[in-house]
Amino acid sequence: MQTENHMTAAFGHIDANVALAHGAQATYGAASRAVRSALLRGLADALERDAAQLVSIADEETSLGATRLNGELARTAFQLRGFAERVEAGIANRHVDDAAVPGAPPAGRPHLTRVHLPLGPVAMFSASNFPFAFSVLGGDTASALAAGCTVIVKPHPGHPELSRRMHALAGRVLREQGLPEGVIAFVDQASREAAVHLVGHADVAAVAFTGSYQGGVALWRAANARRRPIPFYGELGSINPLVVLPQALAEGVDTPAATLAASITMGCGQFCTSPGLIVVRDNEDGKGFAQALAQALSTQKSHPMLTAAMRRGFENAAAHIAAQAGVRVRLAATAQNEEAAAPAPRLFETDAQTFVANPALHEEMFGPAALIVKVRDEAQTLDVLRAVEGSLTVTLWGAQADTPANRALAAAAQGIAGRVLFGGVPTGVAVCDAQQHGGPWPASTQPQTTSVGYAAIERFLRPVALQDAPQWAIAATSGTATA
Ligand code: NAP
Repeated sequence: MQTENHMTAAFGHIDANVALAHGAQATYGAASRAVRSALLRGLADALERDAAQLVSIADEETSLGATRLNGELARTAFQLRGFAERVEAGIANRHVDDAAVPGAPPAGRPHLTRVHLPLGPVAMFSASNFPFAFSVLGGDTASALAAGCTVIVKPHPGHPELSRRMHALAGRVLREQGLPEGVIAFVDQASREAAVHLVGHADVAAVAFTGSYQGGVALWRAANARRRPIPFYGELGSINPLVVLPQALAEGVDTPAATLAASITMGCGQFCTSPGLIVVRDNEDGKGFAQALAQALSTQKSHPMLTAAMRRGFENAAAHIAAQAGVRVRLAATAQNEEAAAPAPRLFETDAQTFVANPALHEEMFGPAALIVKVRDEAQTLDVLRAVEGSLTVTLWGAQADTPANRALAAAAQGIAGRVLFGGVPTGVAVCDAQQHGGPWPASTQPQTTSVGYAAIERFLRPVALQDAPQWAIAATSGTATA
């Protein structure tokens, strides 16, 4: 039995690697906290040892630049060690214990212990835009390993050589630590059919995905069409509204405009948290801010995008927004730039009514671009936020005072986003316990979970209640057994 939905010899390579991960699951899932944390720490050390070579390959394949890539590699090692610390603290092996209470129910009850078990092998689709932090050894892999799940990595075609090197590095660490190679398996086969086959494989227990809405929905459907559907943790797109309230412009428009322009163009706009929708008041300050933003964007330098397909995708998305009725182009590219590898930043503008009425304006432009929406008042600001589907973030500038209007705005923001910022810019996502990187669909297919931060471990754990269990059965799930 290879797949729940169809069997075919064309995917022997995938089947063989899923078999490796499946074969390693029993050993790795039962491994102690010490074994799991040593693996995570070993991967972080190896990553740092080979940093110079890995960053050079990554730069050749992604054009993201050595500064960004060194920072991202450091973050990846940091988060591997952070997950190791959580494993050592027993987060993945925690118990909730209710002692027995004599007497009849509902007050009377048996002894119950809620324990957590790894789900099983996780198919992990690497993201294009984080060649370290959300690729072979990135956050999805680290959180699955921390939970005791083996991983089958599907590399992204945007950085193939880097992915192979990272997998070879992982293989060395696994050998050094005496762990089976299937703990981090790798499927070097790219096609839509191959991806669907992997998600449909009977021995895959969950999927982690970051990428496009179209690709994510196709794979989410495949996960749900299985005879035995499995959890699909997908991050599929976000327009990240940023609301500029009048108070935010009290000291002028230039500094906030420069800060926002830098965030919109960071990494050539190829961030899931890039601010793509800017809500400003339709007044003199608002006009001044829009002008200053266009000016600040026009001076930003960009670099080639991750893949030619993403470059084309950006041009199409920007053209689609520009073609909508009621949209004014505030900053356009030259005809020459439309063909260049590095795109020029774009800025569009519309009014609240047009935005609310036209879903085409709610779509993500993955690249250095944003849409300004002019609003008359607080009520229109709320209308605009409510028209947005799920988003990873909403940023509120100038909402520090405790007023009914700010409370209403904060509630609306929390209604559509996984993270609400009361200052700063949404690009840059801290890795810590309190972090939430998700949100209502399409920001995430599972809005109760996060893909960044240590709570990401929860995605790959399955609770089981042990009733009147002997001590040995409870201890066996604590991750401290030596046998
Ligand atoms: P993608 O096209 O969704 O590809 C991601 C992975 O999914 C790839 O491994 C790809 O397989 C697979 N895939 C894509 N479409 C599929 C389908 N219909 N059926 C089965 N598998 C499929 O994402 P991308 O290459 O990273 O970027 C493309 C666009 O996605 C960007 O331009 C941007 O709009 C969006 N994106 C958004 C975010 C975000 O965080 N919001 C991040 C990255 C990308 P193959 O390897 O076989 O192609």
